[in-house]
Amino acid sequence: MVQQNYIGGEWVAGKTVTRDINPSDIKDLVGEYAQADATLTEQAIDAARDAFKTWSLSPIQQRFDILDKAGDLILARKAELGKLLSREEGKTLAEGIGEATRAGQIFKFFGGEALRMSGEKIASTRPGIEVEITREPIGVVALITPWNFPIAIPAWKIAPALCYGNCVVFKPADLVPGCGWALVDILIEAGLPKGVLNLVMGRGSVVGEKMLASPKVDAVSFTGSVATGRAIAQKAVASGKKVQLEMGGKNPMVVLDDADLATAVNVSVNGAFFSTGQRCTASSRLVVTSGIHDKFVEAMKEKMKALKIDNALKPGTDIGPVVDQSQLDQDMNYIEIARKEGGKVFGGERLNRETEGFYLSPALVTETTNAMRINREEVFGPVASVVRVKDYDEALAVANDTEFGLSAGICTASLKHSSHFKRHSQAGMVMVNLPTAGVDYHVPFGGRKGSSYGPREQGRYAAEFYTTVKTVYIQP
Ligand code: NAD
Repeated sequence: MVQQNYIGGEWVAGKTVTRDINPSDIKDLVGEYAQADATLTEQAIDAARDAFKTWSLSPIQQRFDILDKAGDLILARKAELGKLLSREEGKTLAEGIGEATRAGQIFKFFGGEALRMSGEKIASTRPGIEVEITREPIGVVALITPWNFPIAIPAWKIAPALCYGNCVVFKPADLVPGCGWALVDILIEAGLPKGVLNLVMGRGSVVGEKMLASPKVDAVSFTGSVATGRAIAQKAVASGKKVQLEMGGKNPMVVLDDADLATAVNVSVNGAFFSTGQRCTASSRLVVTSGIHDKFVEAMKEKMKALKIDNALKPGTDIGPVVDQSQLDQDMNYIEIARKEGGKVFGGERLNRETEGFYLSPALVTETTNAMRINREEVFGPVASVVRVKDYDEALAVANDTEFGLSAGICTASLKHSSHFKRHSQAGMVMVNLPTAGVDYHVPFGGRKGSSYGPREQGRYAAEFYTTVKTVYIQP
Protein backbone atom coordinates (compact mmCIF):
# COMPACT_ATOMS: atom_id res chain seq x y z
CA MET A 1 0.00 0.00 0.00
CA VAL A 2 1.28 3.47 -0.90
CA GLN A 3 1.35 5.78 2.15
CA GLN A 4 -0.05 9.18 1.29
CA ASN A 5 0.51 12.84 2.03
CA TYR A 6 -1.67 14.42 4.71
CA ILE A 7 -3.25 17.73 3.75
CA GLY A 8 -6.06 19.61 5.49
CA GLY A 9 -7.05 16.52 7.44
CA GLU A 10 -7.18 14.16 4.42
CA TRP A 11 -4.80 11.53 3.11
CA VAL A 12 -3.89 12.59 -0.42
CA ALA A 13 -2.20 10.56 -3.17
CA GLY A 14 0.58 12.00 -5.33
CA LYS A 15 1.35 11.63 -9.03
CA THR A 16 4.56 9.72 -8.28
CA VAL A 17 5.77 7.30 -5.63
CA THR A 18 9.13 6.86 -3.90
CA ARG A 19 10.45 3.51 -2.72
CA ASP A 20 11.96 3.45 0.76
CA ILE A 21 14.83 0.90 0.74
CA ASN A 22 16.53 -0.70 3.77
CA PRO A 23 20.27 0.16 3.63
CA SER A 24 21.08 -3.02 5.59
CA ASP A 25 19.30 -5.16 3.01
CA ILE A 26 18.56 -3.53 -0.31
CA LYS A 27 16.09 -6.29 -1.21
CA ASP A 28 13.90 -5.17 1.70
CA LEU A 29 11.33 -2.57 0.63
CA VAL A 30 10.39 -0.59 3.76
CA GLY A 31 7.43 1.06 2.06
CA GLU A 32 6.14 3.15 -0.81
CA TYR A 33 5.32 6.80 -0.26
CA ALA A 34 3.34 9.24 -2.42
CA GLN A 35 5.29 12.26 -3.59
CA ALA A 36 3.77 15.71 -3.36
CA ASP A 37 4.19 18.29 -6.12
CA ALA A 38 3.97 22.10 -6.07
CA THR A 39 0.16 22.08 -6.28
CA LEU A 40 -0.24 19.76 -3.29
CA THR A 41 2.33 21.80 -1.37
CA GLU A 42 0.29 24.92 -2.02
CA GLN A 43 -2.86 23.15 -0.81
CA ALA A 44 -1.02 22.13 2.36
CA ILE A 45 0.08 25.73 2.97
CA ASP A 46 -3.49 26.97 2.44
CA ALA A 47 -4.84 24.34 4.84
CA ALA A 48 -2.31 25.41 7.48
CA ARG A 49 -3.21 29.11 6.98
CA ASP A 50 -6.86 28.30 7.43
CA ALA A 51 -6.31 26.18 10.55
CA PHE A 52 -4.12 28.89 12.08
CA LYS A 53 -7.21 31.05 12.71
CA THR A 54 -8.41 28.65 15.40
CA TRP A 55 -5.26 26.77 16.47
CA SER A 56 -3.43 30.01 17.30
CA LEU A 57 -6.16 30.76 19.85
CA SER A 58 -6.65 27.17 21.06
CA PRO A 59 -6.77 26.56 24.82
CA ILE A 60 -3.46 25.51 26.35
CA GLN A 61 -5.25 22.52 27.90
CA GLN A 62 -6.08 21.25 24.39
CA ARG A 63 -2.46 21.68 23.27
CA PHE A 64 -1.19 19.91 26.39
CA ASP A 65 -3.63 17.02 25.94
CA ILE A 66 -2.63 16.44 22.30
CA LEU A 67 1.13 16.79 22.72
CA ASP A 68 1.21 14.71 25.90
CA LYS A 69 -0.92 11.99 24.32
CA ALA A 70 1.32 11.98 21.23
CA GLY A 71 4.30 11.51 23.58
CA ASP A 72 2.56 8.59 25.31
CA LEU A 73 1.66 6.96 21.97
CA ILE A 74 5.24 7.27 20.69
CA LEU A 75 6.65 5.82 23.91
CA ALA A 76 4.14 2.96 23.85
CA ARG A 77 5.21 2.16 20.26
CA LYS A 78 8.94 2.89 20.64
CA ALA A 79 10.03 -0.67 19.78
CA GLU A 80 8.02 -0.68 16.54
CA LEU A 81 9.05 2.89 15.60
CA GLY A 82 12.68 2.13 16.47
CA LYS A 83 12.58 -0.87 14.17
CA LEU A 84 11.08 1.17 11.33
CA LEU A 85 13.81 3.78 11.89
CA SER A 86 16.57 1.16 11.82
CA ARG A 87 15.12 -0.35 8.66
CA GLU A 88 14.91 2.89 6.75
CA GLU A 89 17.97 4.78 8.03
CA GLY A 90 20.36 2.03 9.09
CA LYS A 91 21.23 2.94 12.66
CA THR A 92 21.19 -0.03 15.03
CA LEU A 93 17.95 -1.18 16.62
CA ALA A 94 19.10 0.08 20.04
CA GLU A 95 19.91 3.47 18.52
CA GLY A 96 16.58 3.49 16.68
CA ILE A 97 14.60 2.72 19.84
CA GLY A 98 16.64 5.35 21.70
CA GLU A 99 15.76 7.95 19.08
CA ALA A 100 12.06 7.03 19.13
CA THR A 101 12.11 7.33 22.94
CA ARG A 102 13.63 10.76 22.65
CA ALA A 103 10.88 11.81 20.24
CA GLY A 104 8.25 10.72 22.78
CA GLN A 105 10.01 12.63 25.58
CA ILE A 106 10.17 15.76 23.42
CA PHE A 107 6.40 15.71 22.86
CA LYS A 108 5.75 15.28 26.58
CA PHE A 109 8.16 18.12 27.39
CA PHE A 110 6.42 20.53 25.01
CA GLY A 111 3.02 19.40 26.30
CA GLY A 112 4.21 20.74 29.66
CA GLU A 113 5.58 23.90 28.05
CA ALA A 114 2.13 24.69 26.66
CA LEU A 115 0.91 24.95 30.27
CA ARG A 116 3.87 27.07 31.30
CA MET A 117 3.51 29.76 28.65
CA SER A 118 4.08 33.10 30.28
CA GLY A 119 4.78 36.77 29.63
CA GLU A 120 6.10 39.68 31.63
CA LYS A 121 4.58 42.68 33.30
CA ILE A 122 6.99 45.57 33.52
CA ALA A 123 6.71 49.07 35.02
CA SER A 124 6.48 51.88 32.47
CA THR A 125 8.80 54.87 32.52
CA ARG A 126 5.63 56.98 32.25
CA PRO A 127 3.42 57.43 35.33
CA GLY A 128 0.15 55.49 35.42
CA ILE A 129 0.96 53.28 32.44
CA GLU A 130 1.47 49.51 32.49
CA VAL A 131 3.54 47.43 30.06
CA GLU A 132 2.88 43.78 29.24
CA ILE A 133 5.07 41.55 27.10
CA THR A 134 3.46 38.45 25.64
CA ARG A 135 4.45 35.74 23.18
CA GLU A 136 2.27 34.85 20.19
CA PRO A 137 2.63 32.21 17.48
CA ILE A 138 4.32 33.25 14.23
CA GLY A 139 1.87 31.60 11.82
CA VAL A 140 2.51 28.91 9.22
CA VAL A 141 5.87 27.23 9.66
CA ALA A 142 7.62 25.12 7.02
CA LEU A 143 9.72 22.35 8.57
CA ILE A 144 12.42 20.75 6.39
CA THR A 145 14.34 17.86 7.92
CA PRO A 146 17.35 15.63 7.04
CA TRP A 147 17.56 11.85 6.88
CA ASN A 148 19.94 11.13 9.75
CA PHE A 149 17.48 11.58 12.68
CA PRO A 150 14.22 10.71 10.92
CA ILE A 151 12.00 10.89 14.01
CA ALA A 152 13.84 13.03 16.60
CA ILE A 153 14.46 16.06 14.37
CA PRO A 154 10.86 16.20 13.08
CA ALA A 155 9.75 15.83 16.73
CA TRP A 156 11.94 18.67 17.98
CA LYS A 157 10.52 20.98 15.32
CA ILE A 158 6.86 19.87 15.22
CA ALA A 159 6.34 19.72 19.02
CA PRO A 160 7.39 23.33 19.80
CA ALA A 161 5.71 24.65 16.64
CA LEU A 162 2.36 23.20 17.80
CA CYS A 163 2.94 23.99 21.47
CA TYR A 164 3.19 27.73 20.76
CA GLY A 165 0.13 27.76 18.46
CA ASN A 166 1.64 27.58 14.96
CA CYS A 167 0.42 25.47 12.05
CA VAL A 168 2.86 23.27 10.19
CA VAL A 169 3.76 22.10 6.70
CA PHE A 170 6.30 19.32 7.20
CA LYS A 171 8.65 17.90 4.57
CA PRO A 172 10.71 14.90 5.68
CA ALA A 173 13.92 13.97 3.84
CA ASP A 174 13.42 11.96 0.64
CA LEU A 175 15.32 8.93 1.99
CA VAL A 176 13.26 8.52 5.17
CA PRO A 177 9.56 9.27 4.65
CA GLY A 178 8.49 6.33 6.85
CA CYS A 179 9.25 7.81 10.26
CA GLY A 180 7.82 11.20 9.29
CA TRP A 181 4.64 9.52 8.07
CA ALA A 182 4.33 7.46 11.27
CA LEU A 183 4.79 10.55 13.42
CA VAL A 184 2.03 12.43 11.61
CA ASP A 185 -0.26 9.39 11.92
CA ILE A 186 0.35 9.40 15.70
CA LEU A 187 -0.46 13.11 15.99
CA ILE A 188 -3.75 12.51 14.18
CA GLU A 189 -4.54 9.72 16.66
CA ALA A 190 -3.65 12.12 19.48
CA GLY A 191 -6.48 14.39 18.31
CA LEU A 192 -4.78 17.17 16.33
CA PRO A 193 -7.46 19.19 14.45
CA LYS A 194 -7.51 19.23 10.63
CA GLY A 195 -5.01 21.43 8.84
CA VAL A 196 -2.83 22.11 11.91
CA LEU A 197 -0.17 19.67 10.70
CA ASN A 198 0.29 18.83 7.02
CA LEU A 199 2.69 16.29 5.57
CA VAL A 200 4.13 16.78 2.09
CA MET A 201 6.65 14.16 1.06
CA GLY A 202 8.82 14.91 -1.92
CA ARG A 203 11.95 16.45 -3.29
CA GLY A 204 13.54 19.57 -1.88
CA SER A 205 13.72 21.08 -5.33
CA VAL A 206 9.93 20.75 -5.72
CA VAL A 207 8.23 20.76 -2.31
CA GLY A 208 10.96 22.72 -0.50
CA GLU A 209 11.21 25.37 -3.19
CA LYS A 210 7.43 25.87 -3.19
CA MET A 211 7.44 26.35 0.59
CA LEU A 212 10.19 28.96 0.31
CA ALA A 213 8.52 30.82 -2.53
CA SER A 214 5.10 31.03 -0.86
CA PRO A 215 4.23 34.37 0.76
CA LYS A 216 1.77 32.43 2.96
CA VAL A 217 4.61 30.73 4.88
CA ASP A 218 5.83 32.88 7.77
CA ALA A 219 8.87 30.91 8.93
CA VAL A 220 11.20 28.08 7.91
CA SER A 221 13.09 25.76 10.23
CA PHE A 222 15.66 23.69 8.37
CA THR A 223 18.17 21.03 9.38
CA GLY A 224 20.54 19.65 6.76
CA SER A 225 23.71 20.42 4.87
CA VAL A 226 25.45 23.78 4.72
CA ALA A 227 24.98 24.19 0.97
CA THR A 228 21.23 23.63 1.10
CA GLY A 229 20.88 25.69 4.28
CA ARG A 230 22.62 28.73 2.83
CA ALA A 231 20.48 28.63 -0.32
CA ILE A 232 17.33 28.30 1.81
CA ALA A 233 18.33 31.24 4.01
CA GLN A 234 18.70 33.56 1.03
CA LYS A 235 15.31 32.65 -0.37
CA ALA A 236 13.61 32.80 3.04
CA VAL A 237 15.04 36.22 3.84
CA ALA A 238 14.19 37.53 0.36
CA SER A 239 10.53 36.70 1.00
CA GLY A 240 10.58 38.06 4.57
CA LYS A 241 10.37 34.75 6.41
CA LYS A 242 11.83 34.09 9.83
CA VAL A 243 14.51 31.43 9.39
CA GLN A 244 16.39 28.95 11.56
CA LEU A 245 19.13 26.69 10.19
CA GLU A 246 20.98 23.77 11.78
CA MET A 247 23.72 22.53 9.50
CA GLY A 248 26.97 20.66 9.42
CA GLY A 249 29.84 20.13 11.82
CA LYS A 250 33.53 19.23 11.97
CA ASN A 251 33.50 18.67 15.66
CA PRO A 252 36.78 18.40 17.55
CA MET A 253 37.45 16.04 20.45
CA VAL A 254 40.55 17.20 22.30
CA VAL A 255 42.46 14.49 24.18
CA LEU A 256 45.09 15.80 26.61
CA ASP A 257 48.04 13.88 28.09
CA ASP A 258 46.35 13.69 31.49
CA ALA A 259 43.13 12.15 30.12
CA ASP A 260 41.99 8.76 31.33
CA LEU A 261 42.90 6.63 28.27
CA ALA A 262 39.91 4.28 28.48
CA THR A 263 37.48 7.21 28.80
CA ALA A 264 39.14 9.06 25.90
CA VAL A 265 38.89 6.00 23.64
CA ASN A 266 35.28 5.18 24.60
CA VAL A 267 34.21 8.77 24.14
CA SER A 268 36.01 9.07 20.78
CA VAL A 269 34.75 5.76 19.34
CA ASN A 270 31.22 6.58 20.42
CA GLY A 271 31.38 10.18 19.16
CA ALA A 272 33.08 9.36 15.86
CA PHE A 273 31.50 6.09 14.76
CA PHE A 274 28.20 5.34 16.49
CA SER A 275 25.13 5.96 14.33
CA THR A 276 27.62 5.17 11.52
CA GLY A 277 29.21 8.61 12.08
CA GLN A 278 26.14 10.15 10.44
CA ARG A 279 25.58 12.75 13.11
CA CYS A 280 26.05 16.49 12.76
CA THR A 281 27.67 16.32 16.21
CA ALA A 282 30.06 13.44 15.33
CA SER A 283 33.65 13.78 16.62
CA SER A 284 35.33 13.84 13.23
CA ARG A 285 38.56 15.54 14.37
CA LEU A 286 40.45 13.95 17.26
CA VAL A 287 42.99 16.52 18.45
CA VAL A 288 45.52 14.68 20.59
CA THR A 289 48.56 15.96 22.54
CA SER A 290 51.84 14.23 21.79
CA GLY A 291 52.36 12.55 25.21
CA ILE A 292 49.27 10.35 24.82
CA HIS A 293 49.04 10.31 21.00
CA ASP A 294 50.61 6.92 20.21
CA LYS A 295 48.91 5.10 23.09
CA PHE A 296 45.60 6.66 22.11
CA VAL A 297 45.88 5.70 18.44
CA GLU A 298 46.80 2.09 19.30
CA ALA A 299 43.92 1.80 21.78
CA MET A 300 41.52 3.28 19.24
CA LYS A 301 42.53 0.67 16.66
CA GLU A 302 42.07 -2.15 19.16
CA LYS A 303 38.62 -0.91 20.08
CA MET A 304 37.68 -0.44 16.41
CA LYS A 305 38.72 -4.01 15.55
CA ALA A 306 36.19 -5.30 18.09
CA LEU A 307 33.25 -3.36 16.60
CA LYS A 308 30.62 -5.44 14.80
CA ILE A 309 29.47 -3.83 11.57
CA ASP A 310 26.39 -5.58 10.29
CA ASN A 311 22.67 -5.47 9.57
CA ALA A 312 21.20 -2.78 11.83
CA LEU A 313 18.49 -5.14 13.08
CA LYS A 314 20.85 -7.98 13.97
CA PRO A 315 21.43 -8.43 17.72
CA GLY A 316 25.01 -7.55 18.64
CA THR A 317 25.57 -5.08 15.80
CA ASP A 318 27.50 -2.02 16.98
CA ILE A 319 27.42 -0.07 13.73
CA GLY A 320 24.89 -0.34 10.93
CA PRO A 321 25.37 0.48 7.26
CA VAL A 322 25.83 3.86 5.60
CA VAL A 323 22.46 5.29 4.55
CA ASP A 324 22.77 4.82 0.76
CA GLN A 325 25.09 4.35 -2.19
CA SER A 326 25.71 8.04 -2.75
CA GLN A 327 26.69 8.66 0.90
CA LEU A 328 28.91 5.56 0.74
CA ASP A 329 30.61 6.96 -2.38
CA GLN A 330 31.15 10.26 -0.57
CA ASP A 331 32.71 8.49 2.45
CA MET A 332 35.02 6.38 0.26
CA ASN A 333 35.96 9.44 -1.76
CA TYR A 334 37.02 11.35 1.38
CA ILE A 335 39.03 8.36 2.60
CA GLU A 336 40.86 8.42 -0.74
CA ILE A 337 41.38 12.19 -0.51
CA ALA A 338 42.86 11.76 2.98
CA ARG A 339 45.22 9.07 1.67
CA LYS A 340 46.37 11.28 -1.19
CA GLU A 341 46.94 14.16 1.23
CA GLY A 342 49.37 11.94 3.17
CA GLY A 343 47.09 10.55 5.87
CA LYS A 344 47.48 6.92 7.03
CA VAL A 345 44.17 5.12 6.91
CA PHE A 346 43.17 2.34 9.31
CA GLY A 347 39.89 0.58 8.39
CA GLY A 348 37.59 2.33 5.91
CA GLU A 349 36.96 -0.84 3.93
CA ARG A 350 33.84 -1.80 2.04
CA LEU A 351 32.34 -4.90 3.72
CA ASN A 352 30.06 -7.67 2.51
CA ARG A 353 27.52 -9.12 4.89
CA GLU A 354 24.82 -11.82 4.74
CA THR A 355 22.33 -9.23 3.47
CA GLU A 356 23.40 -6.88 0.71
CA GLY A 357 23.83 -3.35 2.06
CA PHE A 358 26.10 -0.31 2.29
CA TYR A 359 28.60 -1.59 4.85
CA LEU A 360 31.80 0.28 5.61
CA SER A 361 34.24 -0.37 8.42
CA PRO A 362 35.02 2.76 10.50
CA ALA A 363 38.09 4.64 9.29
CA LEU A 364 40.72 6.33 11.43
CA VAL A 365 43.07 8.62 9.53
CA THR A 366 46.30 9.41 11.36
CA GLU A 367 49.25 11.70 10.55
CA THR A 368 46.94 14.50 9.45
CA THR A 369 47.20 18.25 9.76
CA ASN A 370 44.27 20.52 10.35
CA ALA A 371 44.81 22.13 6.94
CA MET A 372 43.95 18.91 5.06
CA ARG A 373 40.54 18.63 3.41
CA ILE A 374 39.72 15.64 5.63
CA ASN A 375 39.84 18.04 8.59
CA ARG A 376 38.04 20.93 6.95
CA GLU A 377 35.05 19.38 5.17
CA GLU A 378 32.20 17.37 6.64
CA VAL A 379 32.32 13.72 5.53
CA PHE A 380 29.17 12.57 7.36
CA GLY A 381 30.21 8.95 7.70
CA PRO A 382 32.25 6.66 9.99
CA VAL A 383 35.48 8.52 9.29
CA ALA A 384 37.58 10.35 11.91
CA SER A 385 41.05 11.81 11.71
CA VAL A 386 43.73 12.42 14.30
CA VAL A 387 45.69 15.67 14.53
CA ARG A 388 48.78 15.54 16.75
CA VAL A 389 49.42 18.73 18.76
CA LYS A 390 52.12 19.65 21.28
CA ASP A 391 50.02 21.04 24.15
CA TYR A 392 46.67 22.36 25.34
CA ASP A 393 47.12 25.79 23.74
CA GLU A 394 47.73 24.29 20.32
CA ALA A 395 44.84 21.85 20.86
CA LEU A 396 42.44 24.73 21.56
CA ALA A 397 43.68 26.66 18.53
CA VAL A 398 43.22 23.62 16.25
CA ALA A 399 39.80 22.85 17.75
CA ASN A 400 38.62 26.37 16.94
CA ASP A 401 40.30 26.51 13.53
CA THR A 402 37.23 25.49 11.54
CA GLU A 403 34.35 27.19 9.80
CA PHE A 404 31.96 25.09 11.90
CA GLY A 405 31.02 25.43 15.57
CA LEU A 406 28.40 22.89 16.60
CA SER A 407 29.88 20.70 19.34
CA ALA A 408 33.36 20.39 20.87
CA GLY A 409 34.74 18.01 23.48
CA ILE A 410 37.73 17.66 25.74
CA CYS A 411 39.04 14.63 27.65
CA THR A 412 41.20 15.70 30.58
CA ALA A 413 41.55 15.34 34.34
CA SER A 414 42.54 19.00 34.59
CA LEU A 415 39.96 21.40 35.98
CA LYS A 416 42.09 24.28 34.74
CA HIS A 417 42.07 23.08 31.14
CA SER A 418 38.45 21.95 31.07
CA SER A 419 37.34 25.29 32.54
CA HIS A 420 39.42 27.22 30.02
CA PHE A 421 38.10 25.07 27.16
CA LYS A 422 34.48 25.59 28.25
CA ARG A 423 34.99 29.34 28.05
CA HIS A 424 37.12 29.55 24.89
CA SER A 425 35.69 26.85 22.63
CA GLN A 426 33.88 28.48 19.70
CA ALA A 427 31.12 25.86 19.67
CA GLY A 428 27.47 25.97 20.68
CA MET A 429 27.82 22.84 22.83
CA VAL A 430 30.85 21.76 24.90
CA MET A 431 31.37 18.29 26.36
CA VAL A 432 33.87 17.46 29.11
CA ASN A 433 34.87 13.76 29.23
CA LEU A 434 31.77 12.99 27.14
CA PRO A 435 31.21 12.33 23.42
CA THR A 436 30.50 15.38 21.23
CA ALA A 437 27.27 13.64 20.19
CA GLY A 438 24.41 12.61 22.48
CA VAL A 439 22.43 15.41 24.10
CA ASP A 440 19.51 15.95 26.47
CA TYR A 441 16.09 16.82 25.10
CA HIS A 442 15.16 19.64 27.50
CA VAL A 443 18.05 22.07 26.93
CA PRO A 444 19.10 24.19 23.93
CA PHE A 445 20.73 22.54 20.93
CA GLY A 446 22.66 24.38 18.23
CA GLY A 447 25.95 25.83 17.15
CA ARG A 448 27.91 28.86 16.04
CA LYS A 449 29.76 29.99 12.93
CA GLY A 450 28.84 27.97 9.80
CA SER A 451 26.93 25.32 11.78
CA SER A 452 23.83 27.26 12.73
CA TYR A 453 21.85 30.38 12.00
CA GLY A 454 19.05 31.89 14.04
CA PRO A 455 17.71 30.96 17.47
CA ARG A 456 18.51 27.66 19.19
CA GLU A 457 16.26 24.61 19.00
CA GLN A 458 14.85 22.54 21.88
CA GLY A 459 14.12 23.17 25.52
CA ARG A 460 12.56 26.48 26.55
CA TYR A 461 14.83 28.28 24.06
CA ALA A 462 12.67 26.91 21.23
CA ALA A 463 10.17 29.68 22.07
CA GLU A 464 12.58 32.24 20.57
CA PHE A 465 11.95 30.87 17.09
CA TYR A 466 8.38 29.64 17.32
CA THR A 467 6.90 32.80 18.85
CA THR A 468 6.93 36.51 18.21
CA VAL A 469 6.91 39.03 21.05
CA LYS A 470 4.19 41.64 21.55
CA THR A 471 4.64 44.67 23.81
CA VAL A 472 1.38 46.17 25.07
CA TYR A 473 1.05 49.58 26.78
CA ILE A 474 -2.03 50.13 28.94
CA GLN A 475 -3.44 53.30 30.46
CA PRO A 476 -5.95 51.86 32.97
P1 NAD B 1 20.32 18.04 2.76
O1 NAD B 1 20.73 19.46 2.94
O2 NAD B 1 20.66 17.35 1.50
O3 NAD B 1 18.73 17.92 2.90
C1 NAD B 1 18.04 18.36 4.05
C2 NAD B 1 16.58 18.62 3.67
O4 NAD B 1 16.52 19.72 2.77
C3 NAD B 1 15.91 17.45 2.96
O5 NAD B 1 14.59 17.33 3.41
C4 NAD B 1 15.97 17.87 1.51
O6 NAD B 1 14.96 17.29 0.72
C5 NAD B 1 15.73 19.38 1.64
N1 NAD B 1 16.15 20.17 0.49
C6 NAD B 1 17.10 19.88 -0.42
N2 NAD B 1 17.17 20.85 -1.36
C7 NAD B 1 16.25 21.78 -1.02
C8 NAD B 1 15.84 23.02 -1.59
N3 NAD B 1 16.39 23.50 -2.69
N4 NAD B 1 14.86 23.71 -0.99
C9 NAD B 1 14.28 23.24 0.14
N5 NAD B 1 14.61 22.07 0.72
C10 NAD B 1 15.59 21.35 0.16
O7 NAD B 1 20.87 17.26 4.03
P2 NAD B 1 20.81 15.67 4.33
O8 NAD B 1 21.76 15.00 3.40
O9 NAD B 1 19.40 15.20 4.39
O10 NAD B 1 21.37 15.61 5.82
C11 NAD B 1 22.72 15.59 6.13
C12 NAD B 1 23.20 16.95 6.60
O11 NAD B 1 22.39 17.40 7.69
C13 NAD B 1 24.61 16.96 7.13
O12 NAD B 1 25.32 18.06 6.60
C14 NAD B 1 24.44 17.14 8.64
O13 NAD B 1 25.52 17.73 9.30
C15 NAD B 1 23.22 17.95 8.72
N6 NAD B 1 22.58 17.83 10.02
C16 NAD B 1 22.68 18.88 10.90
C17 NAD B 1 22.11 18.80 12.15
C18 NAD B 1 22.19 19.96 13.11
O14 NAD B 1 21.34 20.05 13.97
N7 NAD B 1 23.17 20.83 13.00
C19 NAD B 1 21.43 17.64 12.53
C20 NAD B 1 21.36 16.58 11.62
C21 NAD B 1 21.93 16.69 10.36
